[in-house]
Order: sequence, then structure tokens, then C-alpha cells
Amino acid sequence: METMTRPELFRLMFCCMSIPVLLTAQSTISPSDAKLRIIAIGAHPDDCDIKFAGTAAKFAKAGHLVKFLSVTNGDAGHQTQRGVELAQRRRAETQESARRLGIAEYEVLNNHDGMLTPSLEVREQIIRAIRQWKADFVIAPRTNDYHPDHRYTGVLVQDAAYMVVVPNVVPGVPALRRNPVFMYYEDNFQEPTPFRPDVAVSLDDVWDLKISALDAQVSQMYEWLPWVDGRLADVPTDPAARRQWLSKTRSRPISPAVRAALEKRYGADAAQIQHAEAFKLCEYGRRPDGEELDRFFPR
Ligand SMILES: [Zn+2]
Repeated sequence: METMTRPELFRLMFCCMSIPVLLTAQSTISPSDAKLRIIAIGAHPDDCDIKFAGTAAKFAKAGHLVKFLSVTNGDAGHQTQRGVELAQRRRAETQESARRLGIAEYEVLNNHDGMLTPSLEVREQIIRAIRQWKADFVIAPRTNDYHPDHRYTGVLVQDAAYMVVVPNVVPGVPALRRNPVFMYYEDNFQEPTPFRPDVAVSLDDVWDLKISALDAQVSQMYEWLPWVDGRLADVPTDPAARRQWLSKTRSRPISPAVRAALEKRYGADAAQIQHAEAFKLCEYGRRPDGEELDRFFPR
């Protein structure tokens, strides 16, 4: 589907599908009214942790329901292990990460790592997952990532963004009556457009928790990713030392755009913030204004 403006989308819905107007009504959800239901979607069983663990922990602490979904089982992400053995190990790591973060659920779909394509079959898996979670928010990668699995996860979620409200698509799972808000994780890719945050969250008070979640991803943080980077020999063996090493190597400078987004929310305190996660609104799905986003997202 080509990009549509909201009036075009309304026209399509009225002329083709006879869906009641309440589907796209601009009503708001107040975090104090109800528990928000958030689903973060990543290609691999550590992607949501890397991009969203801090904000997820804050949402969870505030009583909201967060689910992480990995679209592949991660069975290619290691230098010596592979296949079912690796997939099982990584699944166990996701469950430990979820436990440490206090999120409601971490699901891993059984698609092969490194072989993801934006197929109808996987699109339907994603539609099903978003509907079953009754998501208010869906968070996913942008579609200009270096890794094809990340890129196609972005495409698959975009492809699901409208279909989650269409009852005749995946009829076995009731369609959502209200389109979720779709957002993107922060990335550093500059083409075709640099990431422009719509909301940023300080992680300074949950940074140790985020590192604790990543620390549960032993096969990735201490084995595969350092091996890919040619620095496996730098990883300390002592558990406390390697957690410190992880915190140091996972720290990133905050970009000027994200710093500006932090200033909007935190005022003068933003200058002191050392760790943050940031998110951009997708043009599909429901689009809350800046004030509503500020109210939804934890501080
Ligand atoms: Zn990944």
C-alpha cells in the first residue's frame, strides 16, 4: 500500500470496507485510566533488549504490560553453535532477560535467523501477535537497517500496521477495533533520512537494569557480538567485571537530536542525562500528538 494521508485512509475505509468511524477516532488513552499494552518487535532474540529494555522496564514498573517478540529464533547468531541447540539456548536467555526486566512476556517465533523474508506467512504471524496482545503500542525497527532480518522485520510490521484492523485478513484472530500507535526504535542510519525522535526517555535510573537484561544474553553479549567485532579476547571472564565491561561498551553518546528531545521532556536536567532511548512515530497507525506521547511514555 502506498503511503496515505489520513483523509485518504478514511476514504478507503468508508468506500471499500464499511468500517465504522470509531476505528480511527482520535480518542486518547490515559495511562492512569488503563494499563497500556505494548509489544516491541525485533528480528532476533536480543534486539528488543538492545533497543527498548530501559523504557520497557520503566513501563513495566508503572504497571503497564510489555511483550517482546523476536521474529526469528536466532539460530544463526553464533560462531560455534547453531541450529536447534542455539535456538534453545537463546530462547532461555530471552526468558531470563524478561524476568530481570519484569516484563510480561518474551515470545520467540520459530523462523530461521538470517533467512527472514517479508512473506505473507510471517506477516500473518505478526498480525496475529499484535492482535492477540491487543496492543496499544507497537515498536519496531525502521526499514533502512544494514541487516536484512532487521530491515524485513520493519517491513513486516509496516505491512501489518493497517491489516491488524481488517477482519477479513487472518480471520481466525479478532481484528483490533482501534489501530495501535506504531513507533520506531532509534538507529544511526542516515539514508534515506536520519532518525528524528518524537519522544526520548532517560535511562539513567534503569541503566543497571538494562545492562542486567543484556547480561542475560550471554551467547550474544559475551560471545557472538564480540567475536564479530574481533574483540572476543577483551571480554572479562569474571561475572562482575564482564557486566562492567558490558555497561562501558554499550554506552553510546547521545545524538544532538535525541538530546533536544530529552530537553523537551526534562528541561535543564536533560544536560546531565547519560543514557537514553528514543522513538519515532510511524506514519501508519494511530498518531498521537506530542503531548499525548509525553504523557504515555515513562520519564
Ligand atoms: Zn538483530
